[in-house]
Amino acid sequence: MDVAAIKQSLEDSGLRCTPQRYALIAFLMEHNTHPTAAEIFEGVNRLDPRSSRATTYNNLRDLVQAGLVREVAVEGRSARFDAKGTRHHHFICDRCGNVEDIDWYDVPRPASASLGKRILRECELIFRGLCTRCAPRQASR
Ligand SMILES: [Zn+2]
Ligand SMILES: [Zn+2]
Repeated sequence: MDVAAIKQSLEDSGLRCTPQRYALIAFLMEHNTHPTAAEIFEGVNRLDPRSSRATTYNNLRDLVQAGLVREVAVEGRSARFDAKGTRHHHFICDRCGNVEDIDWYDVPRPASASLGKRILRECELIFRGLCTRCAPRQASR
């Protein structure tokens, strides 16, 4: 996504492209490390300190609701966020809580009987285990 694409996607979602919202999405696109809300607030304000914490958090919530930003819930830790560029799954490390992207592949939908009247919006996977840094090193020969 470039500048024009960010503006367009904000407008398509019925959100005004304020400098604060723009800065937030731009920050998330540059940092695909899945920052927490606190890290996003710090990062955005380091570049351009004009967004209060409340504004940043409200904008983050609006962007998640509009589907432009994805919230990745990590049990027992702060939620992490990423800009919805390309679709991907996530891998969460049990030990360090690192959230990593896994290349997208289509996930089968649940059987319609188990969905019932629910309306499925999207379907993505979270894998859990040990990231490459936390996995025990292979004993060298
Ligand atoms: Zn790890
Ligand atoms: Zn991600």
